[in-house]
Amino acid sequence: MSAFYIKTNRIFTPIRKYGWTFTLLVAIGGIWFPKLGLLVIPVIVSLLLLSFFKGRYWCGNFCAHGSLFDSLLYPISQNRKIPSFFKSKYLIGAFFIWFSFNLIRKFIKVSALFGSMAFWDKLGFIFVASYLMVTIIGGLLSLFVSPRTWCNFCPMGSLQRLSYKLGKLIGVAKKFDEKVTAATTEMCHTCGKCARVCPMQLTPYQEFSDKNQFDSDICIRCSTCVENCPAGILSLGTEEEAIKIKENTDITGYENRQKITAVIEKITPIKDDIIEYTFKFRSPEKVDYNEGQFILVKIQDEPEMYRAYSISSYNTDSTRLSVTIKKMENGYGTNIIFDQFKEGKKVELEGPMGKELVIDKSAEKVILVAGGIGITPFKAIVKDLVKHSGNLKDFKLIYGANYANEFIYDDEFKKLQSESDKFDYIKVVAFDENWKGKKGFVTDVMKDMNLQGYKIYMCGPKPMTDASVKVLKNMNVSEDKIYYESA
Ligand SMILES: Cc1cc2nc3c(=O)[nH]c(=O)nc-3n(C[C@H](O)[C@H](O)[C@H](O)COP(=O)(O)OP(=O)(O)OC[C@H]3O[C@@H](n4cnc5c(N)ncnc54)[C@H](O)[C@@H]3O)c2cc1C
Ligand code: SF4
Ligand code: SF4
Repeated sequence: MSAFYIKTNRIFTPIRKYGWTFTLLVAIGGIWFPKLGLLVIPVIVSLLLLSFFKGRYWCGNFCAHGSLFDSLLYPISQNRKIPSFFKSKYLIGAFFIWFSFNLIRKFIKVSALFGSMAFWDKLGFIFVASYLMVTIIGGLLSLFVSPRTWCNFCPMGSLQRLSYKLGKLIGVAKKFDEKVTAATTEMCHTCGKCARVCPMQLTPYQEFSDKNQFDSDICIRCSTCVENCPAGILSLGTEEEAIKIKENTDITGYENRQKITAVIEKITPIKDDIIEYTFKFRSPEKVDYNEGQFILVKIQDEPEMYRAYSISSYNTDSTRLSVTIKKMENGYGTNIIFDQFKEGKKVELEGPMGKELVIDKSAEKVILVAGGIGITPFKAIVKDLVKHSGNLKDFKLIYGANYANEFIYDDEFKKLQSESDKFDYIKVVAFDENWKGKKGFVTDVMKDMNLQGYKIYMCGPKPMTDASVKVLKNMNVSEDKIYYESA
């Protein structure tokens, strides 16, 4: 079974990357120079003040221990599910009381030395000892459970939650607190990726408020979910900003999203690791969709998760659709699909969704760019354009692969080319020395073309779409002529 929690980049700022040096300075250096522990006092004051306005923002963005867990230990962590014991309110409460009681007891003891030189060393050492304890316990939990296990019951986290509650009560937090915000839940793929990358192992996608905000006071505002959402709908924003975003988000292409029950009518192996699944709709019996849209396929109930797949079939009578799925190594969803999806099985779908790849047929010239499995929507799109080209006089498909044997649906595209003199089918291969056709990447083909007047639609892995957008901008293609989806 593939792992639910996936590793991703969490280091977005220099402080998050190198903050751990402060931890080691205090926790290790403090053993010889206890006064280093005094540096922790401004840290505690700062986190308390900040949390009053912005919840646990400190933990996700400035905490030196957090940097140790995320920057140094995460790459070698087991990254397992955090046992509910570490999240229990009893553990959190008991640990907070024990920690505070101990700290106060030590302060009282040291205060007897006030006025002497030893006082500052002893006071500093109180902080050094707690830093060392967090480094050791938090570090071990990081390695053997999950990097941010400690943060679930950290007394400083609890202190911030209390300060935040006060900030909310007074009303200041509302103005400054930037929570995880979804532009619209209509566009959410329910893929659970935000939960799978969350260091605190929270499930934002299941808990958005009516203002589309994730109201958790455990959330450390680290932006990891924001950076990883495949739908690109997440941001950190205040309540006021959330309302504005919600009002201004255009949901064209998503307005007909509905729950669909279907059965797997046909399974067609395309390659060893690629299968085409045809779903026949049961309820409702007819679902209209546009070529270029995608559909969500449910992979499990608990937690509820779907995977997005471009519709690869041309819509003949709205009673069925096909998707073409590539099995990912260690892929959570594709392993479930490849193992459990059999002909006759009932499946739950949601959609249709998407507008980026719905071709504007009022345009005269269009270029379609596909990389790898990103070819799937174009199978439907090209068929549609050959049948109903609208205003189009010229449409080209540039299809890139690493090796020549990776192309799929090649015969179909060749046939479609023979059916329409408006359609040009161009293949490009990156690494195959025996390939006699165009060599390189899709970007190399585009660089050699005159793109004046073309609308460009792209689908493929993110590095491909990112590189292509960059090339197109350098070629002075205006942004409103570029449309893309990353598969
Ligand atoms: C609009 C849209 C359309 C799409 N259309 C298609 C389509 O037509 N066909 C298609 O095949 N796909 C398509 N996709 C991609 C699809 O939605 C899934 O993302 C894909 O099938 C992989 O799902 P998964 O759950 O198997 O992989 P995941 O488990 O989500 O893994 C994703 C990647 O992370 C890696 N990974 C897994 N575990 C770990 C770990 N522990 N640490 C680090 N990395 C890890 C995997 O190797 C994989 O490369 C589309 C996506 C979008 C957004
Ligand atoms: S919900 Fe998002 S911002 Fe909050 S802790 Fe999880 S990943 Fe970070
Ligand atoms: S990561 Fe997936 S589930 Fe989470 S908000 Fe984005 S699209 Fe929705």
